[in-house]
Parts: sequence; structure tokens; C-alpha cells
Amino acid sequence: MAEIETDVLVIGAGMAGLTAAARAATSGKSVVVVEKSAAIGGSAQFAGYAWTAPSHEVMDEVNPDGDPELRRALVDGFSDGIDWIRSLGVDCADAVTVLRYGTGHQFDTNRYIDECRRRIRSHGGEVHTSAETLALLPLDGGVAGARVRLADGTECEIHSPATILATGGFQANPDLASAHIHPAASEMQLRSNPTSAGDGLRLAEAVGAATGTDRSGFYGHLVPTGVRFRDPSDFVALSLYYSEHALLFNLDNRRFTDETVGDHLTTMDLLEQPESRGLLVADARVYRDWITGSYVEGAASLDKFDLAQRRGGRCGIAENLDEFAYLPEEWGYDGAAIAHQIRSLNAAGADGQPPRRFDSSPLDEGPYYLVEACPALTFPFHGIRIDEHGRVLDSAGGTISGLFAAGSDTGGLYNRAYTGGIAPALVFGLAAADRAAC
Ligand SMILES: Cc1cc2nc3c(=O)[nH]c(=O)nc-3n(C[C@H](O)[C@H](O)[C@H](O)COP(=O)(O)OP(=O)(O)OC[C@H]3O[C@@H](n4cnc5c(N)ncnc54)[C@H](O)[C@@H]3O)c2cc1C
Repeated sequence: MAEIETDVLVIGAGMAGLTAAARAATSGKSVVVVEKSAAIGGSAQFAGYAWTAPSHEVMDEVNPDGDPELRRALVDGFSDGIDWIRSLGVDCADAVTVLRYGTGHQFDTNRYIDECRRRIRSHGGEVHTSAETLALLPLDGGVAGARVRLADGTECEIHSPATILATGGFQANPDLASAHIHPAASEMQLRSNPTSAGDGLRLAEAVGAATGTDRSGFYGHLVPTGVRFRDPSDFVALSLYYSEHALLFNLDNRRFTDETVGDHLTTMDLLEQPESRGLLVADARVYRDWITGSYVEGAASLDKFDLAQRRGGRCGIAENLDEFAYLPEEWGYDGAAIAHQIRSLNAAGADGQPPRRFDSSPLDEGPYYLVEACPALTFPFHGIRIDEHGRVLDSAGGTISGLFAAGSDTGGLYNRAYTGGIAPALVFGLAAADRAAC
């Protein structure tokens, strides 16, 4: 079997893996990257913003049950992360508000991916695509590299004092989604790259890594039921970000959550409702201000209702609340009951239940725009436990020597909360590379 020696081995060439590899190469380390798919970039190629909570106070408020050490490290490391992106010659726009409580920078993730690869190669590093990682190489209770099958079928042992797992989570594995997110999670449409199927988790568990936290949720968005993604551009186009200004009713014709906290949080709650589907109701004001507008400064705007309708989603327009009585029976909702609740909510204003903390404006301007929605899955919050340096923890709370993880492979940072996916991949990718280079 062929043998390769390197200072740093990175498994997975998306945001976390390429960041770690480019940083380690810049520090003068020899680097080998192995990527399962035929192309690099992972889900990072679909993203547009590096963002997170702007302060510890905001992070603690919006993500109170996340690992305190990781929460702190993410906020503290964010601006260095932005400087790092800029140091590769990739522009990061001025800061804007993201999802009401976050701050972030728009940047060209595809340009960043290319620049990372260029940096790795120009420093003598290797990037192997279509490569399968078979197992980690254990050594004295730690990890000393991995056994890999390269694209031409050759098997080799890559020996390295530092191995960084960055395979992007397990969202493409329905069994793991059911086991760790929710029994109904395997039914969700995949809103991510198709290759993140839990390989990092499996490799880490095989050498005794600690994992967590089950049922901590996932990042995803509401999409129209019955509409399949045709290609990755649909991931954003079909996401119903405007739900935070609309009302969502379950099959019991009840609101069950505060929609105004954010579409990504409502998405988690809808998964747990009957049949994981609900009726999303907007009025003419919400249509004008939010459905056809852009959800974050700099993002393209698109009429989400029109698209959902054209793509065959369950959509309808009611001129007024009386017309809710004519909802198609096969959808399973009692339109008159829903209309009654909207009237009561409009009358109650800020006292309506469940509360609508961030937008309690009435929905009283016809016509009404109705879309049946369901959750789609981008990545889970359960994963490999790490410390703030990206070192993988074992079940006794110690670290597994030679093993690091970053990005969506990791767990513990978020618990039923979210402040960005690019930012933790960036910050902990850099941290892992810096510690690996010590
Ligand atoms: C449509 C969309 C829009 C998004 N927008 C944003 C945004 O604006 N801001 C934000 O913060 N987040 C956003 N995200 C989330 C963000 O893209 C991810 O959180 C981020 O890419 C995670 O980085 P990662 O390196 O962990 O995973 P990825 O970037 O997905 O990379 C993982 C890589 O590992 C590879 N891999 C899998 N298994 C193996 C294996 N066994 N061996 C080797 N390689 C393997 C995969 O093929 C992939 O290339 C978005 C996601 C999507 C899908």
C-alpha cells in the first residue's frame, strides 16, 4: 500500500476544510486534502454571507443553550476570520444586519474556494477529489492519519500528526437524521450538497469521540410542500424567508410558534407538528413588503409566492377572510377556523397568542396569499464535540490527540438556535489549522 507523509491531513474540501488547509499551508505546513465529491466547495458554494452574533450578549440571548466556550470563541474569532478572507484577495462587503440579530459580510464564496485551492497548491499542498476515506489510523489512543482510496482506485495510508474532519454534517443520511434530529427528519428535502452523509461523525465515533447534542435541531428553511428542488439555485429561490412576517397554522388549524423569531427557527418547530406541514398565510402588505422583497441587504429579490405557484405548490389567493372557507378539502385545513383566528389575532394586536414578538402587525389587507409549507434540511446541529481550538473531545472530556474537526461536522455550538454556518466553519477551521501547526 502506498504511504504519504504530511503535516496536516484535511478530510472534506468545503468551507471548513479549505479554510484549514489554506491556513496550514500558509503557515508553512505540508497539506493533503481529500474530498469525496468530484468537485470541491461543498455547501459553501451556495452561501453568500459570513455572519454571526455581533457580541457575547447577543450570542447568549439567541443561543442560550449552546456550548459556552464555543459560543465565545465564535464571536471572538469572527473579525480575524473576515481579515483572513480578505488576506486571500477576496472582497468582503461592509457589514449588514442578517436575520434581525446577526451581523455579517457578503462575499463571493466561489472565489474564496478557488483562492484557498490556489494557496494550498502554491505552497506545495495536494487536493484529491473523488477520494474515499476508509478509516482513521489509530495510534496510542490518538489519530495518526487515515487510510484513503484515491480516484484511480489506489489505496494509501496518509500519515499525519494532525487530521482535520470537515465533511459537512450528516444531512444526506436519512437514518442519521431520524436518529439524531427527529423521527420525521428523514422525510425532509435536502437543501445542501448531496455528499455530507455523516462520514466525519462515523470516523470520529470509531475512535471514541464525544458527540452531541441529540435533538438540538438543524439549520433549514420552509419550502412549499410538494415542490422538488430542480437544482441548487432552488435552495434559496424556494425558501420562504418571509414567514417571519406571516402566520403559520398546523393541521389542527392552530398557530404553534412565534413565527417572528425567524424562518429558520419556525422550520425546526414545524418538523414536530402533525405531518410536518402547515399553512403559511400572508396578506397584501406582507406580499408587498416581504414576499417580493429581499430578505437581507444585497440579496436578490424574487416573488416567492409566484414561483411556488408556478412550480406546482399548494398555493391560493383569497380576496378576503370569508373566502378561506373555500380552501381545497384535500389540503386538510379548516379554512373558516383559520380565518376566525386571524380575525381574533388582528383584534388582539400585541396581546395575541402565541406572541409575535418582532412583528405583531395585523394581517388585515386582502388579498391573502396562502402557501402550504414544510421544512427542508441544510445541516444538523448534532455532531462531533470539539473545544475552542477545534480539538476533538473524547467521552471523558479529554482531547483525542491528532484529531480535529470544524464546520457542520461538529455539534454543541448551537441548540435550537443559529447564528451562521459559514462563520463557525471559518473560525474553527482557522483555529484547528493554527493548533495543528503548533
Ligand atoms: C443554499 C445554501 C445557502 C447558504 N447560505 C449561507 C449563508 O449565506 N451564510 C452562512 O453562514 N451559511 C450559509 N449556508 C450554510 C453553509 O454553506 C455551511 O454551513 C458551510 O458550508 C459549512 O461548511 P463545511 O465545511 O462544514 O461544509 P461544506 O461546505 O458543505 O463542505 C463539506 C465538504 O465535505 C465533503 N465530504 C463529505 N463527506 C466526505 C468524505 N467522506 N471525505 C471527504 N470529503 C467529504 C463534501 O463533499 C463537501 O465538499 C448555506 C447553505 C446552503 C445549502
